[in-house]
Amino acid sequence: MAITTLEQLKQHLELTQDELSWKPSPTSVPLCITEHYMRLLDPSDPSDPLRRQVVPTCHENVGSRSESPDPLMEVKHSHGERLIHRYMNRVAFLATDICPMYCRHCFRRRFTGNMMGPASESDIAGACEYLKANPQIKEMLLTGGDPLTLSDEQLDSMIGSFRKARPNLIIRICTRYPVSQPSRITPHLIEMFRSHSTAPFYLMTQFNHPRELTDESIRAVSLFVDAGIPAMNQSVLLRGVNDNADTLEELCNRLLFCRVKPYYLFQGDMVVGTEYFRVPIRRGLEIERELRLRLSGLAMPNYVADLPDGGGKIPLCGNYILQEPDNKKGSWLFRTPEGETRSVQDPDLSPQAY
Ligand SMILES: *Cc1c(COP(=O)(O)O)cnc(C)c1O
Ligand code: SF4
Repeated sequence: MAITTLEQLKQHLELTQDELSWKPSPTSVPLCITEHYMRLLDPSDPSDPLRRQVVPTCHENVGSRSESPDPLMEVKHSHGERLIHRYMNRVAFLATDICPMYCRHCFRRRFTGNMMGPASESDIAGACEYLKANPQIKEMLLTGGDPLTLSDEQLDSMIGSFRKARPNLIIRICTRYPVSQPSRITPHLIEMFRSHSTAPFYLMTQFNHPRELTDESIRAVSLFVDAGIPAMNQSVLLRGVNDNADTLEELCNRLLFCRVKPYYLFQGDMVVGTEYFRVPIRRGLEIERELRLRLSGLAMPNYVADLPDGGGKIPLCGNYILQEPDNKKGSWLFRTPEGETRSVQDPDLSPQAY
């Protein structure tokens, strides 16, 4: 049974004053921790990085001035309740607002955990019409909430509708089930995806700490990958969870070994009640720079920020361009990852050079 109240939680953990004084609010996500994840927590460590992600504290009740319930302006970019079209060639469909476990750092808390449930037939039909009318859309993120809270039959029907509308649309399954409750990933579920094979699926998951990569999680991810569904990971950079190069190095290397490509490392969004999780960008850049020295290109995630007021995603990384050429024949000056300098001469494009 999942844990959903502080009373239940007290039977597993000795709660700190900060945890006991948490007040649920309309902008917070519900308390819900799966049995699987509960077993991973270290009951003797109040600052356990896994505990921090799922046990609420009074720090959530503090909203800082620059925070917003919807910094990415998803509502403004929505078509109907459930379809977000922010980037030209891809959309996000909010299959449900429910998750098997709620992350205290959830960036979509304006929507997540309001107990509205799965998208309705008319939400799905509306999205299908929109997809048909907009062939420039090449990818759809099936997200939420966690889409795998739907039954295999519900997913089959929803995906069937999307495939019928747009057989060539790449679908990303965005889910934290491999972390929160890996037993949800069954051969039956994978078979359902395989039966809709007119276009690829991608698994997008969210491991934030190496201890989350349990044997059960690895098995869950392997079911996808063995079925030809590539797996990508999107971590969130979280203070007190993974805000150091050693933890992220281990996480990324272990993910790669499990055939999960570290895709993004997100700077925390400016969402209400999450300030205590955010890492200063200068510190994030230091970590990024250190990771780039230690990790292979395959294991290296892109550190990105999704800018406020719907500005969109941008890469955050150190500057390797020290000087641009000042004339056509000039040379570039670069900084190497180790901090040395090198220059690169541009090709001569003048007609007499040929
Ligand atoms: C992040 C995001 C995407 C996907 O962006 P990628 O950079 O391609 O991973 C699509 N739609 C919305 C609304 C997003 O926030
Ligand atoms: S799994 Fe995703 S949508 Fe659900 S609470 Fe966590 S971050 Fe939010």
